[in-house]
Amino acid sequence: LAKRLEGIAPTIFSRMSALAISTGSVNLGQGFPDVDGPPDVIAAAVAALHEGRNQYAPGLGVPELRHAVARHQQRHYGIELDPDTEVVVTTGATEGVAAALLGLVDPGDEVVVLEPYYDSYVAMMQMAGAVRRPVTLRAPDFRLDADELRAAVTPRTRFVLLNSPHNPTGTVLTRAELEAVAAIAVEHDLVVITDEVYEHLVFDVHEHVPIATLPGMRERTLTLSSAGKSYSFTGWKVGWATGPAALVGALLAAKQWLTFTSGSPLQPAIAHALDHEPDFPRELARDLQGRRDLLCAGLGKAGLTPRIPEGTYFAATDVAPLGWDDGLEFCLALPDRAGVVAVPAQVFYDDPDAPGAGRHLVRWAFCKDSAVIEDGVRRLQEAD
Ligand code: PMP
Ligand code: GLN
Repeated sequence: LAKRLEGIAPTIFSRMSALAISTGSVNLGQGFPDVDGPPDVIAAAVAALHEGRNQYAPGLGVPELRHAVARHQQRHYGIELDPDTEVVVTTGATEGVAAALLGLVDPGDEVVVLEPYYDSYVAMMQMAGAVRRPVTLRAPDFRLDADELRAAVTPRTRFVLLNSPHNPTGTVLTRAELEAVAAIAVEHDLVVITDEVYEHLVFDVHEHVPIATLPGMRERTLTLSSAGKSYSFTGWKVGWATGPAALVGALLAAKQWLTFTSGSPLQPAIAHALDHEPDFPRELARDLQGRRDLLCAGLGKAGLTPRIPEGTYFAATDVAPLGWDDGLEFCLALPDRAGVVAVPAQVFYDDPDAPGAGRHLVRWAFCKDSAVIEDGVRRLQEAD
């Protein structure tokens, strides 16, 4: 194994989903919906296959998707983008993260990253030679402390890797929190790479504010998103990056050597989704909120009271009240104890034993059918 992958464990999501399958457990671990997105979007994909959209797409992605993404950013956030230079289609946000880091970060550059972090960030930072400077959203509130962020910045810091709505805590950064990030980014001339794949999956009164919309940020922000979450097609792996041409161009410079271009036929289908199913993500969020409440109430009855997530697919709970001092051990025992799989959040921390960090935290996905959630929480309530 190459040194660039030393110490990087196989992704927890594959491990826990394999465990769910091998034990026949209810999978409240990996975040994928068990109901697909809109049928007319599937029909658009089938039509694209039959219409001969089967050869390489242009490197930036098919024009109709780039235009649809630009319209989406304009409609929702008032961000004007040139679809020919400021939008690039990626193979999911995962490739977006990879190509952004490989295209922008020099070995030794420091990247400030929210912790707990999505696991691919750490693997890709290591592959890019970046030095990570985690800033912890501390339990139990999982808020961003601007002073800690400021303290993490050194003369070698060049990037902030942001994620809001945040996986795995369910935190949606407030405008004030984002303004604090923006002020630090402007003061230290940092580029912000922001993973906004859950941009539409926000609940109650919470609002997703793209950091690119804050003063002074458009020119220094590279925004990543994905149709996987907004349209419940996680397996299609259609994502995009938007931002100033220089940042998009750097991402593309790396992407061309990773995949060259992303798969052709699903791109016009997602363009159709963005243009013709504009209300789907909001309806999905409304529906998901009900399932969030179902999961959170059921977890509470099982002695695992979560903080109510403001967005995403996930709720995080502390398993210490049930007498467990390690979330990984809890999750490995859970299939036998209850027939349920969840994800231990400790793997998303540099130091899971730091104050407010996640040794005891377990993440539960509620992007599942109500009957599946009910079954899962009933099993948890009946576990010994
Ligand atoms: N970022 C975050 C925060 C995620 O939760 C996910 C998960 N699906 C991704 C990126 C990856 O997105 P995609 O499936 O589009 O590659
Ligand atoms: N993003 C999803 C999660 O956090 C799954 C993605 C993956 O399996 N890599 O569960």
